[in-house]
Amino acid sequence: MAHDTLKKKLAVAGAILAAHGQDDFTRGHISVRVPGKPSQFYMKPHSIGLDEITPASILTIGLDGEVATGRGRRHSEVFIHSEIYRARADVQCVIHSHPPHAIALSASGRNFLPLSQGGALFTGAVGLYDDTIRLIRTRDMGAALAGALGKGRAVLLKHHGVAVVGASIEEATISAIMLENAARIQLLAQAARGAMPDVADKDVAQLQRDLSQPEQFAINFDYLARRTAKRR
Ligand SMILES: [Zn+2]
Repeated sequence: MAHDTLKKKLAVAGAILAAHGQDDFTRGHISVRVPGKPSQFYMKPHSIGLDEITPASILTIGLDGEVATGRGRRHSEVFIHSEIYRARADVQCVIHSHPPHAIALSASGRNFLPLSQGGALFTGAVGLYDDTIRLIRTRDMGAALAGALGKGRAVLLKHHGVAVVGASIEEATISAIMLENAARIQLLAQAARGAMPDVADKDVAQLQRDLSQPEQFAINFDYLARRTAKRR
């Protein structure tokens, strides 16, 4: 895919995320690995909203966290991205955001349960990073976060936010929105006394396979891109 097309898609993803409750002032960021150059990634710059990303504003950054090209200010939490890319060759896109229900779930210390279809997707696939509430501003902190992610789809940063990964911008974006929806449903269900999953393990496994088809992420990303463009 042409680099310009990928940068445009990163901007569209930012607009989709902002339109779906993933924004927190100018905090939160999204990145994608540079095609053909896995040691670099494109990333949203500091000081603008997720919905204000333009292809020209996107920074190119190395796995050491240093800016290679671009004039904007770099997010201090760049190490969330660089250390995940270093640890996970399969990851092409990383999103860090502060969605409220996922943060509340992280504070409870509970894991995702298959209390909804989205909850099933994340059951057994979400790590918990509970070292600190502080910003992830060093390589060591980023590496510890990547360790908590493991082979998962996402990691909850306790009292702070989430990091969600994907094999594409589409997968990471839709996963981030589904994660927050699933966290909200789980908090609602668990607020009702005694709500427990009443599902077969094999059904959870089947649903995880069905929902994680690349086509599913692409169809839903394209739909939200159309809907977000109409609103703007
Ligand atoms: Zn943060």
